[in-house]
Amino acid sequence: MKKQTMIEYILGATKDCWVTENAINNKKKSARYERLHIKIDEQLTVCPSCKRVWRKNRKMMTREWEYFPKNHIPTIGKKRETCPKCKENNNNG
Ligand SMILES: [Zn+2]
Repeated sequence: MKKQTMIEYILGATKDCWVTENAINNKKKSARYERLHIKIDEQLTVCPSCKRVWRKNRKMMTREWEYFPKNHIPTIGKKRETCPKCKENNNNG
């Protein structure tokens, strides 16, 4: 093997290695985001009464539910369920 070829080989190998590593990282990242997106989407509920998007939290959290800002999340295809606040109002009224 000539010296020139050897250098080219090393450079080529390094480049290939970097590209592969980067591609793997990107794949991992997008997979993680995809999972996160699906997870959030499944939990979201739209209140038919106040039209707010809300989500049930786990019991161990301070609040048992939380609201999301209006118009930030498309409500199409989301679960419809009256939020705890509206339920409370309905019970009182
Ligand atoms: Zn509501």
